Amino acid sequence: MKKVLVHTCCAHCAAYTVEHWRQQGYDVGGLWYNPNIHPYTEHQQRKESMKSLAQEIDLPLIVAGGYDIIEYFRRVVGDESQRCRHCFDLRLSKTAEMARENDFNAFTTTLLISPQQEHDIIRETGTKIAGEHGPEFLYADLRKRYSESRHMTKSLNLYRQQYCGCIYSEWERYTNVKIE
Ligand code: SF4
Repeated sequence: MKKVLVHTCCAHCAAYTVEHWRQQGYDVGGLWYNPNIHPYTEHQQRKESMKSLAQEIDLPLIVAGGYDIIEYFRRVVGDESQRCRHCFDLRLSKTAEMARENDFNAFTTTLLISPQQEHDIIRETGTKIAGEHGPEFLYADLRKRYSESRHMTKSLNLYRQQYCGCIYSEWERYTNVKIE
C-alpha cells in the first residue's frame, strides 16, 4: 500500500484531509512541524489539539523535535511580503525529509484545504522540493471541504485558533494592517 505523510497545520484542517487521502487508498501518517506558529504557547495549544485528533482518528503522528522559530525568522525578516513562500518552503522541506526517512512514497499538506492559503505557491513549492529530493508531492484542491472538515472536529471541542500562525498574521487579524 502506498504511504503518504501529511504535514498538519492544525486539527481542524487535518480532519477531512486525512480522510481524503485514506479514500484515495493511501496509508496516511501525519507530521507536526510548525515553527511559524507564534507565540510558543499558541504553538503548544495547536499541537495538543492535533495530538488529540490523531488519537481520535487513529492517525500515526510524528512530532518533529524542537521549535525552529529562529530559522523561521532568519528566512522571513527583510522579506516579509514573501513570508508565506518561506513558511511553506520551511515546512514542506521538513515534511519531505521526514517522509524520506520514514519510507513514505509521497508527502502533502493540510494547507491545501484552507481557502486562506495561496495554493499556487504551495503547489509550486511542494513540486520544487519533490523534484530536488523526492518523494512525490501530492496536490489536491480540497478548499470546498473546508467547512466539512471543521464540522468533523466540532464535537471534539478542540482549541480553535483565531489567526494563521505567525506574529505578522496575528497583527493583521486584529487590525487593518496589511503587511506588504
Ligand atoms: S501568514 Fe500563515 S502561511 Fe503566511 S507566513 Fe504567517 S503563518 Fe506562514
